Amino acid sequence: MRPMSPINGTSALTKLFSARKTQKIIPNLLKAVLFDFDGTLAELNIDFIQMRRAVLGLMADYCKPSNGMEVLYVLEMIEAGKNLISENNPGREIEFFNRSHRLISNIETEGSKEGKLFTGTEDMLHELRRRHIKIGIVTRNCMDAIRQIFPDIDSCCDVVITREFTTRVKPHPDHLLTALDALDTDARSAAMVGDHPMDITVGKDVGVYTIGVLTGHSEAAALREAGADLIIEKAADITRFL
Ligand SMILES: [Mg+2]
Repeated sequence: MRPMSPINGTSALTKLFSARKTQKIIPNLLKAVLFDFDGTLAELNIDFIQMRRAVLGLMADYCKPSNGMEVLYVLEMIEAGKNLISENNPGREIEFFNRSHRLISNIETEGSKEGKLFTGTEDMLHELRRRHIKIGIVTRNCMDAIRQIFPDIDSCCDVVITREFTTRVKPHPDHLLTALDALDTDARSAAMVGDHPMDITVGKDVGVYTIGVLTGHSEAAALREAGADLIIEKAADITRFL
């Protein structure tokens, strides 16, 4: 696919819309679409900064967090904390790990009470189904929080891979490969749609077509820099490009 020209400054939206007119996904190639969840199909309502602070606070009950740990994504922070505690306070690492996971699951499920799907999400998923395109969700979030926001998820999606269902979450390729395997689809016949540069880079690593959306915290430039093949305003627009 031919990438769009770089998007910069105040003319970003103009360039985005003009580029959209010329870009199409080849329909015969696409057998499955993988979607990120928060910020892509549903409003982003998790305070990741608060979540990381809470995990660091919990870690301090066991040992002093090492420098640089505060910038890790929260699941990686928990893993690094577990390893650190196993060195400095052996025997307590599993307790920390379990407490941390309960803590972040509570924050996620609490946040999901206020959450909702973006307008047009379910119609778009039904349209993909109508076109015989398989649908997967790959999210670092937990299943309870996802189901709270999207109770009909099973009737709209073929596979949902939350963090409980993969040994290694994205940005590790295993997360997407687990979903593709469940969908029995080759990476070259699939697309990954996400609001975060991580969704794009993991998609590139796996070899799927990558589509960035502007409904999360990331700007088009960051998604472009990550290597997105296509950037669209919102996931519900994807059917226009098929
Ligand atoms: Mg996201």
